[in-house]
Amino acid sequence: MRKNSGGGFIRIFISVDMEGISGLVRWADVSSTGIDFERNRGLMTLDANAAIEGAFRAGATEVVVEENHGVEDLCVLDMTLIDPRCRVIRGAGRPGATTMAGLTADVGVVLLIGHHGRAGSFPGVMAHTISYGGFRLVRLAGEPIGEPDFFARRAAELGVPIGMVSGDQVVAEQVHAICPWAEAVIVKEALGNQSANCIPPALAREMIIEGAERTVSRALAGELPILTGAGGPYEFEVVLRKPAPEAMRENLASLEGFELLDDTLVQVTAPDMDLGFRRVAYLGYADRPGVTRH
Ligand SMILES: [Zn+2]
Repeated sequence: MRKNSGGGFIRIFISVDMEGISGLVRWADVSSTGIDFERNRGLMTLDANAAIEGAFRAGATEVVVEENHGVEDLCVLDMTLIDPRCRVIRGAGRPGATTMAGLTADVGVVLLIGHHGRAGSFPGVMAHTISYGGFRLVRLAGEPIGEPDFFARRAAELGVPIGMVSGDQVVAEQVHAICPWAEAVIVKEALGNQSANCIPPALAREMIIEGAERTVSRALAGELPILTGAGGPYEFEVVLRKPAPEAMRENLASLEGFELLDDTLVQVTAPDMDLGFRRVAYLGYADRPGVTRH
């Protein structure tokens, strides 16, 4: 199976998060207790459908959607609304990097839909990196990084380009900083961390369809480069919001790849980004006594 082949096979991977979905601005919008959560799941699904539509219009033969929003065990898309032409990877406990099980070497291009700025960004709608409650900042080789940085490097390790991001202007700038060729569909202008000037979702979805269509067309034409310079070993630093509790200290002491540098600073090392993502994400729940699986 070749990707981007003249024979026309092209498999598209769409990572869908919620913070960058059109119309959503505050934490209550993306939390299962929020008054609009059910409605907002629908908006998330419709932004995903827009990307799926654009991909198929451009000639995609297969579209895999993977859920990236960490509430309700990563089951947030509304399965009654999702485009029946795609496949959906959802639920917790996936093998490998938690939210990249569908990102394989035969993918032609990666689309990041509803993604958000990295931890420490202001403005930046619901900006965070993996764990809002747990992490103040995540650095890779000394530079602050966000979730798209993990995807871009993991994709590059597999020889796959990142082709598109949708969300606010902040995530668009951050993705462009490493993948300047990526299509950016800015569906809202962040004004703060929980406020934005929003393009109405019905219009934003038209923009996402067009962006995804352009992206997949460019991928088929071989116009999207693969990020260079990716490849392990990686060295991360995670700045915790609160001093590491005793249970976390005990868990980390028994595991490879973690070193507590001070009360709130953990160094994480990994040979590749699959393990790198898993190890950093683990720190979000490493405070549970005896939980070392990740
Ligand atoms: Zn999320």
